[in-house]
Amino acid sequence: MKPAAYATLNLQAAGHNLAMVRRYAPDAKIMAVIKANAYGHGMIRIAKALDATDAFAVARVEEGIKLREAGIGQPITVLEGFTCALELAASLRYQLDAVVHCREQINLLAESLERDRINVWLKIDTGMNRLGFKPTEFAGVHQRLMQLPVIKKPINLMTHLASADDQSGSSTPLQLELFSTLTADYPGVRSIANSAGILRWRQTLTEWVRPGVMLYGISPFPERTGGQLGLTPIMGLYSRLIAVKSVATGESVGYGGSWLCQQPTRMGIVAIGYGDGYPRHAKPGTPVLINGRKAPLIGRVSMDMISVDLTGLPVAQVGDTVTLWGEGLPVEIIALAADTIPYALLCGITQRVQIFEE
Ligand SMILES: *Cc1c(COP(=O)(O)O)cnc(C)c1O
Repeated sequence: MKPAAYATLNLQAAGHNLAMVRRYAPDAKIMAVIKANAYGHGMIRIAKALDATDAFAVARVEEGIKLREAGIGQPITVLEGFTCALELAASLRYQLDAVVHCREQINLLAESLERDRINVWLKIDTGMNRLGFKPTEFAGVHQRLMQLPVIKKPINLMTHLASADDQSGSSTPLQLELFSTLTADYPGVRSIANSAGILRWRQTLTEWVRPGVMLYGISPFPERTGGQLGLTPIMGLYSRLIAVKSVATGESVGYGGSWLCQQPTRMGIVAIGYGDGYPRHAKPGTPVLINGRKAPLIGRVSMDMISVDLTGLPVAQVGDTVTLWGEGLPVEIIALAADTIPYALLCGITQRVQIFEE
């Protein structure tokens, strides 16, 4: 018995997408970003599927510990770094490399009595205004870190791009220029590019790249799909029709009665909803696929179910498989229709959705 809502993971696609990163950035080492449970795909299984990567990156120390406990041996960078003395101690014990982005972390490093050494990425805020030291602080901070015995030398350097998905804007060239000028005379390797940088800004390719979303086969650009970039999506999300009925003109469908039937409609109920991670804000008209044909969403998404218009699919019947996204229906399309981004849809898959590895 197949569960009502399930996701399939094509793990071979992970290897293919990693190889595509190497094609886009042939001279760079790859830090595969598998934070947030590998964008909802399952961190350990994706780490194993991406075994050919040079390193991994996660957001939090506890994610790094989980990877080590699962036997992952590659270098692991913690993108938010340690946030207290205990996390610093754990980073040393589990050999997690740290992003150093604020004064409080420097104080923790200075107070540390540990004998082990930690590999760090000094993060410069070149315009994202999230984590990192200001350009004016960089030289002083670098000098201070050089004096701390707990830090492995040389110190690695990184920044993060705020708008690399925007081809026309000036922000990426400005960030790049600032970072290059600031770091020109320093030893240590550099890392700038996320997926959008790798795919669209060759100038941002340095010794290390940090692909995330493209490894899952998904495009970072709203106007392109992963398939169009040569990537293969890993995840498909599926359910099935559990009822078919007719709705008369003038009747409403779903909570709030917001969808009003304009003509006699053959309607299907699909066993998936926001309780599974299907986006509650998907607009009427958002497509699903049934037997390879599109059917539009009608009414509001509820916790366990959605309604779709089967008028154009007279043979669709109870039991038929419904693709919410996957083969033939890119998740990028669903994200646009729900006013969100594919990242949020992938991360939002809930515990109720059973996963099948392919
Ligand atoms: C999440 C993240 C990435 C990966 O970004 P994608 O857009 O998924 O490629 C890279 N670097 C940092 C600092 C991140 O937080």
